[in-house]
Amino acid sequence: MFKPSQWQFALLLLAASVTSSRAQPFRLPTANGAFFEPDGEERFFVGTIGKPWLTGTFGCVRSDGRKFHEGIDIRSLQRDSRGEPTDPVTATADGAIAYFSTHPSLSNYGNYLVLRHELDGLEIYSLYAHLKNVRDDLKVGQNVKAGEVIAAMGRTTNTREGISKDRAHVHFELDLFVNEHFPAWHRKAFPNQRNDHAEWNGQNLLGLDPRLVLLEQHKQGTNFNLLNFVRNQTELCRVIVRDTQFPWLTRYPSLIERNPAAEKEGVAGYELSLNYNGVPFRLVPRTASEIRGKAKYQLLSVNESEYRAHPCRRLVVKRGSRWELGQNGNHLLELLTY
Ligand SMILES: [Zn+2]
Repeated sequence: MFKPSQWQFALLLLAASVTSSRAQPFRLPTANGAFFEPDGEERFFVGTIGKPWLTGTFGCVRSDGRKFHEGIDIRSLQRDSRGEPTDPVTATADGAIAYFSTHPSLSNYGNYLVLRHELDGLEIYSLYAHLKNVRDDLKVGQNVKAGEVIAAMGRTTNTREGISKDRAHVHFELDLFVNEHFPAWHRKAFPNQRNDHAEWNGQNLLGLDPRLVLLEQHKQGTNFNLLNFVRNQTELCRVIVRDTQFPWLTRYPSLIERNPAAEKEGVAGYELSLNYNGVPFRLVPRTASEIRGKAKYQLLSVNESEYRAHPCRRLVVKRGSRWELGQNGNHLLELLTY
């Protein structure tokens, strides 16, 4: 019969602790666990008024598919005697406080908080919005543990229609960070618009679909890898950017692919694969001879079926039989390379 020696036993313990340290990287940010229950969607996602739960998910789900929703809306479970939400909101993973705003009138997010995480070599941010309040001892830069209470659910927003008690939820995002020069770019691109949140404006955070991240890690368990998840996004379009130095390259170097020709001849620009939300998930350095046109941004190809499935970001538009970069696509590339 197998009887582990002391030292085999020590190895078993070590293996167990390695496995548990690779536990699921993202946790649900409230006690609402219906996400993982059969037919739990209605109890987990909050739709818009009179619409099904799908309108509380990520993507082209608002205004009959015309408007984009860059996060998921998670239903409240706990109420006080007046029906106000009281659910504690918890950190989805170990991280540090990147930003919080407690001036609800300055954003459609209302009071919101952003955490910075490092996972599988990727810098990723989680965002929690419509909060009643943020834990009052928190400071920017402070570390928090996965599952630690960081805020309380509320209904804050600056939109005219507000959020009704029965729709109380936390709006939750998982984002990549576009550019630390966002405030200067915003002043130039939108001189008449306010920006009260510096680089923590939602336009500077490109969302991944949190539902797909959570489902994928549930399926793959400890094999889940965020970098692979990002690399395996479906391509909406491919563009050439005539620029060799922009923040995304230094922030997300693991998304850059090798090109031996460019290593030999020098890099003149990058070929970017964008998903339907504009996340550049693959970057290939290109030589001068590999780039045809002279324009700073060039659209190389469009995946039409992906466009038809998720058209509302309007990064590309079809004029006659030709695809072009839309205004949103140009804005995104300008911000990316500013
Ligand atoms: Zn939302």
